[in-house]
Amino acid sequence: MKEYLTEAEKLTQYAKENLELDERNIFYVKNRLLEVLPFCSDPFSDEDIDKIYDILSLTPDKIDEKFHRLVKEDCKKATDWLYDYCVKNQYVKRDRLDKNPRFDVSNGLIVTINKAKPEFRDPNKARTGNSVDGGFCSCVICRENEGFGARNKRNLRTVSLNLGGQNWFWQYSPYGYFNQHGIAVNCEHIPMHVDRETFSRLMDFVDIFPHYFIGCNAPLQRIGGSVLAHDHYQGGGEVLPLFKAKIKRFFKDESNPSLKIGILDWPGTVIRIIGGDREAISAVADKIRVTWESYTDTNLGIVANDGEQHNAISPTVIKTATGYEMNIILRSNITSERYPDGVFHAHPEYHSVKKESIGLIEAQGLFILPGRLEAQLSEIETAIEKGLPLDSEDFTLVYEETKTLVKKGYDVHTAMKEELGSICYRILQNTAVFKKEEDFCAFMIKAGYTA
Ligand SMILES: [Zn+2]
Repeated sequence: MKEYLTEAEKLTQYAKENLELDERNIFYVKNRLLEVLPFCSDPFSDEDIDKIYDILSLTPDKIDEKFHRLVKEDCKKATDWLYDYCVKNQYVKRDRLDKNPRFDVSNGLIVTINKAKPEFRDPNKARTGNSVDGGFCSCVICRENEGFGARNKRNLRTVSLNLGGQNWFWQYSPYGYFNQHGIAVNCEHIPMHVDRETFSRLMDFVDIFPHYFIGCNAPLQRIGGSVLAHDHYQGGGEVLPLFKAKIKRFFKDESNPSLKIGILDWPGTVIRIIGGDREAISAVADKIRVTWESYTDTNLGIVANDGEQHNAISPTVIKTATGYEMNIILRSNITSERYPDGVFHAHPEYHSVKKESIGLIEAQGLFILPGRLEAQLSEIETAIEKGLPLDSEDFTLVYEETKTLVKKGYDVHTAMKEELGSICYRILQNTAVFKKEEDFCAFMIKAGYTA
């Protein structure tokens, strides 16, 4: 046991300095560490880290208590504290996230390559919420996972929220895609859905955390998130490209004259509602939802329901000095013979770059590309520099277009970044349900708004 004493002391010292370990608990924590350390590998495995930092962390009740005390003082201070805590207790894999390449592209999009998270290729799994047979937690995001060893969630800490009178909780993602990326989750394991109360809950969230955005994935397979079985939202402290997009055409709503409503100058199909009247915003957002969920235009390939529901919306909101800005993204998951993965999904010529569902975060202009690309793109860059042909046909498009940019004077690395950004932009155009403004306007008129 003695040989582990130094390590245990080092760790308790760390917890005193970083994890608010109380003096009163030091003997207790050290003894618990001495029980675990002999079974840990050198260096510590992910599971070891999980076990050790759980022992070093405050219990969930203490975390919740302190968080809510801070919220009363200053909500940003509260989220900064919690995020920092989750980094220091090793639940958020910050060191790995910092190694992910990330860059802004000249077309306004943000591209990241996520080396920390495995590529998600099975949309069927989303339906069940990646449930594990025999576990007492119904899915991977149920609150019952807090401290759950079998899923390496021993050091997970969540905080309670009240959204629309319901019990929800907030937690940070271990492999976040952007600044302070987290999820707000219903305490009850019920399926993802968007209805009128959703808009109200989203606005409740930004009332508590006005420095965060929050949005809800479309609750259908192939266009939504990876856990459809459990109601949850995604948010965090990042200004996403969509928020900077401007309204290109305004519409009037006679019954809600205080609101500004318009369609966005954006590659996807998005309506923005701006105003301070929460009830009015919910009413308009819900009218758009209901209209879209039954909207069919076969000439455009849009079929609301053919026995299976295909149209859904994805709402996302921020709070500004003048009120709320609610963005409603129209989505369709319909497939065809030509596009078996989705007519309004990334088309096959772009699958070498991105084949996964285009979810809420990407629809807002921040793309998360698979980790494998780092090596693949670096090979292409080398091939271009040395004037060699490509081994794999999958990347012909990227290779040819990057070469064209290099001929225009870009260095090969910058050219590759611009090429990726350009492909992401075209993927967003693929997801647009209305490619022409006149078709979009026809929908708005159908929903009851006048130009
Ligand atoms: Zn669940």
